[in-house]
Amino acid sequence: SQHAEKHGFQTEVKQLLHLMIHSLYSNKEIFLRELISNASDAADKLRFKALQDNALFEGDGDLRVQLSVDGDAKTLTIADNGIGMTRDEVMSNLGTIAKSGTKEFFSQLSGDQAKDSQLIGQFGVGFYSAFIVADKVVVRTRAAGVPADQGVQWESAGDGEFTLTPIEKADRGTEITLFLRDDAEEFADAWRLRSIVKTYSDHLSIPVQMWKDEEAERDGPDGEKIPAKPAHWETVNAGKALWLRDKSDISDDEYKEFYKSVAHDFDEPLLWSHNKVEGKHEYTSLLFIPKRAPWDLWNRENQKGIKLYVQRVFIMDDAEQFMPTYLRFVRGLVDSNDLPLNVSREILQDNKVTRAMRSASTKKVLQALSRLAQDDAEKYHTFWDNFGNVLKEGPAEDQANIEKICELLRFASTHDDKAEQRVSLDDYLARMKEGQETIYYIVADSHDAAKNNPALEVFRKKGVEVLLLSDRIDEWFMSHIEDYKEKKFQSVTRGDLDLGKLDDEADKEAQEKLEKDFQSTCERFSKVLGDKVKKVRVTHRLTDSPACIVTDDHDMSTQMAKLMEAAGQ
Ligand code: ADP
Ligand code: MG
Repeated sequence: SQHAEKHGFQTEVKQLLHLMIHSLYSNKEIFLRELISNASDAADKLRFKALQDNALFEGDGDLRVQLSVDGDAKTLTIADNGIGMTRDEVMSNLGTIAKSGTKEFFSQLSGDQAKDSQLIGQFGVGFYSAFIVADKVVVRTRAAGVPADQGVQWESAGDGEFTLTPIEKADRGTEITLFLRDDAEEFADAWRLRSIVKTYSDHLSIPVQMWKDEEAERDGPDGEKIPAKPAHWETVNAGKALWLRDKSDISDDEYKEFYKSVAHDFDEPLLWSHNKVEGKHEYTSLLFIPKRAPWDLWNRENQKGIKLYVQRVFIMDDAEQFMPTYLRFVRGLVDSNDLPLNVSREILQDNKVTRAMRSASTKKVLQALSRLAQDDAEKYHTFWDNFGNVLKEGPAEDQANIEKICELLRFASTHDDKAEQRVSLDDYLARMKEGQETIYYIVADSHDAAKNNPALEVFRKKGVEVLLLSDRIDEWFMSHIEDYKEKKFQSVTRGDLDLGKLDDEADKEAQEKLEKDFQSTCERFSKVLGDKVKKVRVTHRLTDSPACIVTDDHDMSTQMAKLMEAAGQ
């Protein structure tokens, strides 16, 4: 047509397309999940916008997605009557703006196809996954509330360009036609499509429909007559939001598929917690913990994960008010009956209902984790290795749950000297020596540095276990926990270490004698070192090494000093 305009894809979109086409061939069918989930999002967005302006429904409030195939042309069309897109939206959503994080994503690619396609999974594939199965994609769309002649057609072969053409489109919404590749013709088969929809989209609240041909009158199994039926759109999925169903009616597989679609993850979740709460506040929450850390886990600003629904209407993504920052890896949703439909982020910010839901959801997640730690240590270790360092932000953020968080911590320790963090504080308490009143730990730059620190010698000699900490966050983290089950934490590199009842009388006498004998040596050291040191004294911590450096009780630890220096302070 005459107004067709050519545009180039943004560089990163081009790379993404290339990767998609060449790395995802083993899991082709996910394109359908992505396109149906976009249609479902478009329905959610329309419903939400129509809360303010009911006219946007244009007299058609039955939102649905329809799939149709043309076996001869080898095409598959996915049509929705959701919110649609304006020309500007098409431009930015389907071509010129890469999703946030696309850059980071590319920077993490290894070139190993198997690993990289896992990354794509974590990243969320979205609209461009259409090109896994299609060598040409045509999108026809018209935004809700604008005249029929303001439709737009987007067309691309997934190479480097797309074309935009103004069109007339009577019905609101988006229609996507895929011209299937030769090796993807199976997706023009109605049976195949049905089974994919059942697998991936059963839990969506939007009906997914397929055309059913006219049926003649026929005999039923007991000789009764089954009446003729004209051709009609038949709903293929269950069409009820998963979280509203009874827990006992939902299979593990259904939970897993639901997770994959909300979290855009190829992998199954590690665990989930589904709660219907009644009483003072009424809401449902469905919370998942992923197996692996998402690429942007370390970005504390980028707190994604919890979707907010109010009375089953989708309100917003990334409702960060429902989870504390140290549980930002949790994915899922909350559906509240108490919040107003016109709730905004500002209202959520300081709201009784939000606070109550957040505190209850936090407890649910901590509980689910502690159950996992008890029931399946191996799975729990997977969790810990991926998310332990985020959980360590907990004590600083959430004093109220500090005991529960501490139960979940895992450490390396002198018990086995291994680098894997597998020792819980309860393990430690159970192994404490008679007369031991303190939980001893050391923080260093690396596991080896911690393990080989001379300050540990006396502990090894006495058979007292010391926790070996070497994660970047550890110094800061330890400054936020004082005790666990009434036992104080004590760094072995701090101050004049008092081993309390662990030292017996004979030890004490020997120590006093040593101190006297070496008094003049200490004075000479002190003179030579000048103001490089605060004090030189005889230590009883060492058994093999001649000397070590320690910090005063109230001074910054050497580890912290190094961190500050690195930060330019
Ligand atoms: P995501 O869904 O994660 O945002 P996608 O690549 O799947 O990413 O889609 C990109 C954007 O294109 C969507 O955010 C949405 O704005 C728009 N879009 C895609 N499909 C539709 C649709 N069927 N109706 C309306 N907008 C759509
Ligand atoms: Mg999408």
